[in-house]
Amino acid sequence: MNHEKVQQLIRELIIELGEDPNREGLLDTPARVAKAYEFLLRGYNMDIQKVINGAIFTTDVNNMVVVRDIEVYSLCEHHMLPFFGRCHIGYIPKGRVLGVSKLARIVDAFARRLQIQERLTQQIARAIKDSIDAEGVGVVIEAQHLCMMMRGVEKQNSLMTTSSVLGSFHESVATRNEFLTLISKSRNE
Ligand code: ZN
Repeated sequence: MNHEKVQQLIRELIIELGEDPNREGLLDTPARVAKAYEFLLRGYNMDIQKVINGAIFTTDVNNMVVVRDIEVYSLCEHHMLPFFGRCHIGYIPKGRVLGVSKLARIVDAFARRLQIQERLTQQIARAIKDSIDAEGVGVVIEAQHLCMMMRGVEKQNSLMTTSSVLGSFHESVATRNEFLTLISKSRNE
């Protein structure tokens, strides 16, 4: 991202929106917005392989691993407004597991881009499946979208839920239900 160029564009946008970029409160806004975008969209500079590297451990356990309530912050690609919520991940290992903190970093690497919630959910599931060749993976994201909440009063509390199930989570109803039961506990507690 070219910082100078983005600053210049934000300044032009402020003018087009009918504001005066030279008034005190807005003087540093282009620089702040550019910096904010750099942070909010840092996923583009994150290499998933590097994120995962060194955090794969061998195991002979093949029980389901579930990590609940990973925070998600993203920007919707339709309005460039935030959507945010929680991500729940489950997988059944086939000899290899991922460090818990890495799951959160995988979520972040895909979330910090212009996204739609459905694709974000799929990308996380796919990355986990591929990186450790898991027997099955399930990912559920529950999120609120500011582009919906800030427009139209009746949608203010809407929560969008998306899921992606791969491998045994897709093929076996029992496995999928076990996952859904485990993550639903976190919602009610
Ligand atoms: Zn949107």
